[in-house]
Amino acid sequence: MSADTHLPKDAARPAGGTELIRFDRVTKRFGSHTVLDALDFTVSAGKHVTLIGPSGSGKTTILRLLMTLLTPDEGTIKVGDAFLTHEEKDGRLIPAGEKHIREVRKNIGMVFQQFNLFPNMKVLRNITEAPVHVLGLGKDEAEERARGLLDLVGLTAHLDKYPTQLSGGQQQRVAIARALAMRPQVLLLDEVTSALDPELVAGVLDVLRDIARTTDITMLCVTHEMSFARDISDDVLMFDAGRVIESGAPEKIFTDPEHERTREFLGAVL
Ligand code: ADP
Repeated sequence: MSADTHLPKDAARPAGGTELIRFDRVTKRFGSHTVLDALDFTVSAGKHVTLIGPSGSGKTTILRLLMTLLTPDEGTIKVGDAFLTHEEKDGRLIPAGEKHIREVRKNIGMVFQQFNLFPNMKVLRNITEAPVHVLGLGKDEAEERARGLLDLVGLTAHLDKYPTQLSGGQQQRVAIARALAMRPQVLLLDEVTSALDPELVAGVLDVLRDIARTTDITMLCVTHEMSFARDISDDVLMFDAGRVIESGAPEKIFTDPEHERTREFLGAVL
């Protein structure tokens, strides 16, 4: 069954091509360490953008800023019409209020390296919990949505199990279904296969390829799986030391990179 059966195009979702995410001169420091340095980039609705680059170059920090788990020190972050932070004329940073933050969090789904499922809840309830308690969906409707998503990720037979009864790859597929159950505009994927045994990676990547191919969800993805990045990306951003040093279509970045650092990085990971 195709993914769009379960993810009907949402009337509230911005039309393809509309700018959905904007970073304007975003700086993030931890102590004296500048992790992101006046970073600019934009993502249009419906696009699949992959962030690549050496460990420590600031990729995960970007996802955490978008999830409002961190606040930048300078600059503007905008998601749709909502400002997460913006600077006034005197350079003072104005963080978004609680209401705004809740709104943005509802529109962004995140899947982490370590699955982070609720261990005390069965698979079905892991997926229905937020739609019921955050979106106010009725239990029946939330369960119907969850069953559809479990079908999409190939886990219908496991809906009555606890997370610990599943393999890592299965748990990660539940985490993907759980993120999608909120019908977010944006799916953030943070090295979602790096904690998995090698034989479980392909199943998770296949599910994500299917979602990228058959839905209009915007994806921002940090990954070391270069062939996956090549398959799903509209744009690849190559990071080094908190800056985008090169960006473009995957065919260009992976076969004919401009920057020496990109060549070195790809030489090491491919
Ligand atoms: P990447 O995802 O590219 O590997 P990260 O965004 O995770 O990079 O980290 C960038 C840098 O910021 C790293 O040097 C990391 O140690 C540092 N860092 C990340 N989070 C914190 C934190 N909460 N406190 C201090 N340093 C951090």
